[in-house]
Amino acid sequence: MNNKNAIKGGEFIVKETFPAEVFIPEEFDEEARMIAQTCQDFLDTEVIPNIDRLDAHEEGLMPNILKKAGELGLLGISIPEEYEGFGQNFTTSMLVADTLGAGYAFSVAYSADTGIGTLPIMYYGNEEQKQKYLPNLASGEYLGAYCLTEPGAGSDANSGKTKAVLNEAGTHYILNGSKMWITNGGFADILTVFAKIDEDRILSAFIVERNFPGITFNAEENKMGIKGSSTVQIFFNDCEVPVENLLGNRGDGFRIALNILNLGRIKLGANVIGASKTAINQSVQYANERKQFRTLISNFPAVKYKLAQQVIKAFANETAVYRMSKNVDDAVNRNIANGMDKGTANVEAQREFVIEAALIKVFGSEMLDYIVDEGVQIHGGMGYSAETLIERGYRDSRINRIFEGTNEINRNVTGDTLIKKGLKGEIPLFEEAAKIADYLGKFPENPQFKGDYFEDISIIVKNFKAVFLLLVDAAHKKFGKKLSREQEIIFNFADIIMEAYVSESLYLRINRLQEIKGEEAGKIYKDMLNVYLFDSSNIIYKQGLEAIYSFIDEADQEKYINALRCLSKVKSVNVKEARRRIADKLIEDNKFQF
Ligand SMILES: Cc1cc2nc3c(=O)[nH]c(=O)nc-3n(C[C@H](O)[C@H](O)[C@H](O)COP(=O)(O)OP(=O)(O)OC[C@H]3O[C@@H](n4cnc5c(N)ncnc54)[C@H](O)[C@@H]3O)c2cc1C
Repeated sequence: MNNKNAIKGGEFIVKETFPAEVFIPEEFDEEARMIAQTCQDFLDTEVIPNIDRLDAHEEGLMPNILKKAGELGLLGISIPEEYEGFGQNFTTSMLVADTLGAGYAFSVAYSADTGIGTLPIMYYGNEEQKQKYLPNLASGEYLGAYCLTEPGAGSDANSGKTKAVLNEAGTHYILNGSKMWITNGGFADILTVFAKIDEDRILSAFIVERNFPGITFNAEENKMGIKGSSTVQIFFNDCEVPVENLLGNRGDGFRIALNILNLGRIKLGANVIGASKTAINQSVQYANERKQFRTLISNFPAVKYKLAQQVIKAFANETAVYRMSKNVDDAVNRNIANGMDKGTANVEAQREFVIEAALIKVFGSEMLDYIVDEGVQIHGGMGYSAETLIERGYRDSRINRIFEGTNEINRNVTGDTLIKKGLKGEIPLFEEAAKIADYLGKFPENPQFKGDYFEDISIIVKNFKAVFLLLVDAAHKKFGKKLSREQEIIFNFADIIMEAYVSESLYLRINRLQEIKGEEAGKIYKDMLNVYLFDSSNIIYKQGLEAIYSFIDEADQEKYINALRCLSKVKSVNVKEARRRIADKLIEDNKFQF
């Protein structure tokens, strides 16, 4: 792809993307596949056989397994080669997160260590800090953690009270305060700690070593799920941090925290891919063994419905995640070509895709919750037994909607940031919105389809985006700058934007798959696309209607509802039969093989 034309963050809502422009996971090369296989082997030999011992918090087991991952190079996937890492691109690092995402609590420990635990130093450290810490983080000699949340400061992260004061000699910052819910806190050697210097309003960031004087650690939290991961509260009582351990400049901490969280969100989207496929495999394998009424339960249409929905949602999530991953890589390359150093190029690229990261975090976490929930249901009573892995998967999934920014915060980020980008003129949001609004009162009852399958799907996707554009134009006229206070409407928008993005991603991949696999093998993917778009159109209709009823003047509502009906419409399709075909393939393969 010509990097000059690489799509900008959020631009998808106003710009048509063509199938040839997107990356699909079928395009991973041999090297990436080998890395993924190494991850899978590691899970099969080191993690899954130890899963009960991990969840029982056997002393030293999690750090030992992480260190073994380090010996294999799995902790240094993203770390540049000059710091003894693997220096892989972003998309490959996502494939690693995807594969290891099937590792239950290990996956959380791994992500915290290699993501939020390592990347602050990698992206914001000075040369000395990088030389000192990165090779040891890559090898697993050091394990990392990220300390932002406090008892009184969660979603409002900048409101933390942990304080840093320079000592009289000017050699050390003296840290006082406490941090809560710190993943890997029970054993991490290197902590990125966010605190305010003196009376600053904005956070700064510090690299804190575990053995610095003045740190104490609470016992492990007793959690609902991801029990094997370490989560502790940490206290800083006159903790002495050398001045050279300030990360970035004074006051950079909040920016660092947000940018790193943004990356964590993208990675979470990848983590849930592996977890979702595992839960689907468990579901179908159980359904293919369990008999009731003298037949396998996989023969019941109600079970097939669940299996098909699981497959479609997982496939859609995977599609959106890899589409965005490659967009990030393209933006990194574009930034480097424009003269940025590698670290800044990466940070800026990830920051650019803040909207996509937020919506993928929401979509992925809710997708996995759906899949494990139906997985438990397919297992019946056995799904409620701690003897089954699906029970663990169900409990472990729930955290994804809470950390890396709750889904409420991320829905806000999705809707609000897109509107702000439009207002700043970074994307022609309101110009495109005005064009759609001009059409109000003139929308036909049905979209004007052309008769070609993919061309018509591209019209549907464009129309989904137009629902948002039409309503954002009206909302902006009504509320102006106060729109961001109308959180319910922002959430309606976020869901429409999310569905439009995922629908488009799915259409683009399936169009490509048709070419790669041919008409016959491609049919099952068209089934997925048809069902997904059908479900999506209903979500968009409901969200749109809610928005219309909440702020459009009554006299104008009918015009908007007519437009919404047209723009959210899909072609009629027998979703029952389509779902059955998808489930039948899964049942026959006895595993997710799409
Ligand atoms: C197992 C686990 C591991 C974690 N690991 C780490 C870690 O390694 N490092 C770290 O720093 N933190 C970590 N966290 C903390 C996590 O990031 C926070 O729990 C999360 O950000 C939410 O903060 P909170 O719990 O204080 O909830 P609150 O912020 O109090 O939110 C409570 C509710 O209010 C809603 N809400 C809050 N603000 C708004 C708003 N503006 N608009 C709409 N709704 C809002 C939330 O969505 C939520 O539903 C972890 C948490 C857990 C449970």
